[in-house]
Amino acid sequence: MPDLTPDEFRALGHLFVDAVADSRAGLERHPVRDDVEPGTVRARFDTHAADAPSPLAAFPSLVEAVTGDAETRWQHPGFHAFFPANASLTSLLGELLSGAAGAQGMLWSTSPGCTEVEQAITDQLARALGLAEEFTHTGGGGGVIQDSASSASLVALLAALHRAASDPEGGWRARGVTGRERVYVTAETHSSLAKAVRAAGLGARGLRTVACTPGTRSMDSDALRAAMAQDAGAGLLPVLVCATVGTTSTGASDPVAALAAVAAGHRAWLHVDAAWAGVAALCDEHRWVIDGVERADSFCTDPHKWLLTAFDASLLWVRDAAALPAALSITPPYLRDAASESGAVVDYRDWQLPLGRRFRALKLWAVLHGQGLSGLRAHLRGHVALATELAERIRAHDGLELAADPVLALICLRASGTGSTGGDDDATRTLLDRVNATGRVLLSGTEIDGRPVIRVAFGNPATGTGHLDDLWTILTDRA
Ligand SMILES: *Cc1c(COP(=O)(O)O)cnc(C)c1O
Repeated sequence: MPDLTPDEFRALGHLFVDAVADSRAGLERHPVRDDVEPGTVRARFDTHAADAPSPLAAFPSLVEAVTGDAETRWQHPGFHAFFPANASLTSLLGELLSGAAGAQGMLWSTSPGCTEVEQAITDQLARALGLAEEFTHTGGGGGVIQDSASSASLVALLAALHRAASDPEGGWRARGVTGRERVYVTAETHSSLAKAVRAAGLGARGLRTVACTPGTRSMDSDALRAAMAQDAGAGLLPVLVCATVGTTSTGASDPVAALAAVAAGHRAWLHVDAAWAGVAALCDEHRWVIDGVERADSFCTDPHKWLLTAFDASLLWVRDAAALPAALSITPPYLRDAASESGAVVDYRDWQLPLGRRFRALKLWAVLHGQGLSGLRAHLRGHVALATELAERIRAHDGLELAADPVLALICLRASGTGSTGGDDDATRTLLDRVNATGRVLLSGTEIDGRPVIRVAFGNPATGTGHLDDLWTILTDRA
């Protein structure tokens, strides 16, 4: 038959699992990032696919031969760039089951297990994070697993557009955007919001960049109030405010409760983007990350960033379970279904843009099952402790300085300068290059007020104090 038999799969599966385990065990024998010329990997392929089959037993070593010197190793414990992505081995076991089920969870009836596990797991996680009961499926709202925080922002915006506009022409669903819709962000908001605004057809004018409180990177609620009042006065339609908790660049946060109060004055949707930081609410001492979220319409956080879950798994909770289906549901005859019509079930196709969907909840369930909330808290706390220790060392060092207050497991630093400038920009750029050139760690850069900054984001499950010491030696040898 044109596939493996279950017995062949069993035998090959063991080989593949061995290859994965060997590769993880050997990560530190490789640089975090290979030095590779563009086109290197493609040049190793024939122009045409082979007619004849080849033995799959050799496939792991073939992949290694073709891509093994052209990797950026996200699972390497020296990877502290961007926000690390936790493809934990625990979650990979869940991924295997998810792929094996091969289920399409578009409607409840096309995979009741896929839908109800997702509902149960998102409810459990909402409670574990301390979200208000309204965000659970039993409380009138609900959670959904999106592929990414970018998709979460886009569907939140579409729900907001629908809710904001009911008019004689049938509202947004019938007539599309009018050009008067406005979305409020800051210069620190993730670029995915600008992309969502573009994708939704609002145009660049639809995006209003609100000022931050002077001396901070947090949205100024007075400036938001003024901007929304001005827009409303000019006949424009305030649709959505995005509050970020833990910005990508520096980990800064907007004052969610204050922004929610302003947004409510215009019946605008408040979306909270806590893609990286949100999962920290599992720990009591970091519960501040959900302050004010009880007043939001939607909340997003990414287990694929810092919660031991292989990409892709982005959690989106909405307060009103009807909001996403109201904006997104379209039912052609081939999707008509008795269970859907009964109103007793969730059809997740109406909570996302694509129709088909994978059984993503299995990998999250595997993580919850295998680690427990206590394991997840220990994972988060371990990285926060590393960051706290790194910040202490930087404060005590002559050649380095903190460029922003540490937030959770994120440290922004720069090379110290002399005089009033506070830091030496050229030295900071050189330091980042020299540190990354070692291949033992990978850091990424950003800018604060137009000046270069080095980011260290701890988040890999295998990163421990030995890796902190290693990073410190590399940083201080080159500073
Ligand atoms: C990483 C990040 C995103 C984008 O996340 P994806 O899941 O990759 O789309 C959005 N917002 C913030 C604050 C982020 O840090």
